[in-house]
Amino acid sequence: MNNQELAEKLGVSLERIERLLGRVVMRSSWPEPQLFRLDKAVAGAGEGTVIFDNCEVVCGYPKIKRAMMLEPALKRFFPGTVVAEEKMNGHNVRVFRVDGNVVALTRGGFICPYSTEVAREQVPEEIFDDRPNLVLCGEMVGPDNPYVSKNVYPVESMDFYLFDVSSKGSREMMGLRVTHELAQEYGIKDVPLLGEFDSDEAYREITKIIKRLGSFGREGVILKDPNNAVRPIKYTSSESNCADLAYAFRYYNDYGRDFIFSRVVREGFQSAEWDESEEEFKARCLRLGMSLIGPMKETVEAKMADDLIVQKVQIKVKDLKVAKDFEIHFRRLGVRSIFHEPEPCGDGFLVRISRLAMSTNDKTKSVIDGNTW
Ligand code: ATP
Ligand code: MG
Repeated sequence: MNNQELAEKLGVSLERIERLLGRVVMRSSWPEPQLFRLDKAVAGAGEGTVIFDNCEVVCGYPKIKRAMMLEPALKRFFPGTVVAEEKMNGHNVRVFRVDGNVVALTRGGFICPYSTEVAREQVPEEIFDDRPNLVLCGEMVGPDNPYVSKNVYPVESMDFYLFDVSSKGSREMMGLRVTHELAQEYGIKDVPLLGEFDSDEAYREITKIIKRLGSFGREGVILKDPNNAVRPIKYTSSESNCADLAYAFRYYNDYGRDFIFSRVVREGFQSAEWDESEEEFKARCLRLGMSLIGPMKETVEAKMADDLIVQKVQIKVKDLKVAKDFEIHFRRLGVRSIFHEPEPCGDGFLVRISRLAMSTNDKTKSVIDGNTW
């Protein structure tokens, strides 16, 4: 595809494309197939949109707004009935077939070699024989997820869970009915449906669900309109917010301030909305405080013992080439990491990865050496 064709696809002028190339519109020729990737929205095409050399377009997965106070948000956005689906915690992928091969794109529009291998194993190709334009949107979750590793799902390694479907060239999602029907028809795992509620019971029932999910360390819910007429909204458990904070504070200088601040703020709103007893409130404060200071203290202690602060993650692959490709992919994303020697495991290999939290290492070392902040 040349620049002129690309400009036409996106509905912008050639001059504009030439200005954006290399800054917002990124060219990628690895892994195959070649593509252009949007780093930011351009002319209404969202971030993470990809335009392949064969002129097919896969739109970015839309942002999901967050309810901070559940009851008024439910009243405002879902005055009729609302469906709660589990919000699973992993990474977002779009799976589809292009030039005869199934690939998985990350949210940002990169082809992830590891997610692609998992998608090829778990999604029956027949679905794309029947519907060549289909785009499956889902979450990759499990302990062997190198982006977000979680042990709280019935997943042995890393599994794909479908949560929406779209088609090439379209910005629209087809909604939950089509999604769960397709999953059933083709035997694909789908995110759990937790119930459909009328407005008079929704707040009470969804609050119960959130508390229950939280107690298992699960993330929360996505609230959807049964007829796909309203945009979905997300709401998460305190335990999940705190788990994120604990992670962020272990590597406190490598995580964004916004990431941390937004999660603390959520706790304040939830606490007020739930009208907690003194005891519940204190438990929340303790949970929050422990997740802020606990892991950070461990980081400081580790550095005092002269250890290197690393994030340990792992992948399991059938084919060592996938591990090699994933290493290249990680490096291209700017992640500094050490890939350890593959260990035979079942019918494949386990590869342990240490992500280096360089900024946290340097800052902590400097402070324990007596330097001022
Ligand atoms: P966003 O840009 O949508 O706010 P984010 O990167 O901040 O995304 P999250 O806070 O994790 O991400 O919330 C949205 C994400 O939740 C979706 O992009 C999707 O990957 C994930 N998700 C998990 N379960 C579901 C589900 N049942 N329905 C829709 N999305 C889901
Ligand atoms: Mg997420």
